[in-house]
Amino acid sequence: MMNAEEVRFKSPEDMQVVVLMGGLGTRLKEFTRECPKPLVDVEGRPFFDYSLKLLMHHGFRKFLFLIGYRAEMIEEYYGDGSRLGISITYCYDGKELLGTGGAVKRAYDHLEDDFLLMYGDSFMDIDYEETLYRYFEGRLRGMRALMTVLKNGNRFDKSNVIMDGTEIKLYNKKDISPGMDYIDYGVCVYEKSLFSDDYINGLLGREGEADNDPDNKTGTLTSDSDQSGNADHQNVKFDIAVLQNRLSIDKQIAAHIVTKRFYEIGSPTALNEFRNYVKHRFNEKHPAVFLDRDGVLNEIVFNDDIEQMDSPQKLSQFKAFPEAADAIKAFRDKGYYIFIVTNQPGAAKGKSQLKTLYDINTMFIEQLSEQGAEVDGVYMCPHYPKMCEHTKEKFLIKKCDCRKPKPGLLFKPKDIYNIDYDNSYMIGDSFTDIVAGNAAGVKTVFIGELKCDACKRLCDVEPDHIVHNVSEAAKIVL
Ligand SMILES: [Mg+2]
Repeated sequence: MMNAEEVRFKSPEDMQVVVLMGGLGTRLKEFTRECPKPLVDVEGRPFFDYSLKLLMHHGFRKFLFLIGYRAEMIEEYYGDGSRLGISITYCYDGKELLGTGGAVKRAYDHLEDDFLLMYGDSFMDIDYEETLYRYFEGRLRGMRALMTVLKNGNRFDKSNVIMDGTEIKLYNKKDISPGMDYIDYGVCVYEKSLFSDDYINGLLGREGEADNDPDNKTGTLTSDSDQSGNADHQNVKFDIAVLQNRLSIDKQIAAHIVTKRFYEIGSPTALNEFRNYVKHRFNEKHPAVFLDRDGVLNEIVFNDDIEQMDSPQKLSQFKAFPEAADAIKAFRDKGYYIFIVTNQPGAAKGKSQLKTLYDINTMFIEQLSEQGAEVDGVYMCPHYPKMCEHTKEKFLIKKCDCRKPKPGLLFKPKDIYNIDYDNSYMIGDSFTDIVAGNAAGVKTVFIGELKCDACKRLCDVEPDHIVHNVSEAAKIVL
């Protein structure tokens, strides 16, 4: 197990993103006869441009593209990335298809010590900062990889992950068993050493034995090197699902539970669905409702340690207001984007851990989703400007642009959504929400009584509306 000094948390700028782009796109024949899947046209731009936009928005700058089918077209289009202010290197699949695991292993010499792996034919809109945090936090607990998972209930494909709270209990794509209600989402983070000759030989050797055992159906695979007697293990054919299964059994794969559906272009129907999504999200302008969280969507709780009302710092303290889901649904039905914008300095102050603050948001969004209330994004400021007595996660101490009353959180989705700020709203129960909303140029709704001391601090920034709760806010806005 690593200790805190040995594990260096990386930010997106320092993290390598490896993209699997070698697929043949056989189910998409009419579109991929001339061009590889990542370059299939969607509303006038290649499909992967939309993913790259997301990744760059989250701060990623270093890319390794694993290319095969029509590789030269991808390399010609994206070049070395300098046109976009990023760096792109390439690794070519060989003549033979090696499977997802084999393609990554083949690129071993190009991999950095830790890297994020994703697919070039999927659009995955998740909080990548959270993904990286959870990976490195997992490393401190002996994990060597991370898998993003989505509560699926067989919506998109067969569920293949059993969760135990926020940890992965079992992943198995080949052998679906009861209790699997999550699905692997397609973004993973790995330690490079998992693709070393030693590790992969051990893995495949074990799988070879497993094939003789009828009770163990973890997967079948063939290794070219085994068949040919070739000692060059650069080219081993295997599906990365085999590695993921093994890591889940060995308790070495952390989880990031994500809450938004993914889009992919594996079939003409899926491609069409993504086209419609792109039209709505990038081509048309829509207003947004920015919602503060505590005191607006959920109860504020009494914190015994500081003897004050406070944000929930533990999962068990979180209690959503019963009217929250209906209010969100009402806004959505009228075409508003829903963004939760929340200051959560609890971890920076040492009252909680960032992991727990993320867990609280995830649980809440899953609850809302089960009630049919979808949220487009949760933007949390976990920072605090000064070190406190109990601060442990020191990287959270900084003077940021996102802590309200600054408007940074409201501008976060600006370049990945087409937001009509003039007709958008900020709804909050604190003067900082109103000041932030005002600075972002949106209309503001204050929840509470304008009698309190805090409210006097609103000074010349007056809210457009004052209401008692979020249901009333929805009625006034709509
Ligand atoms: Mg509040």
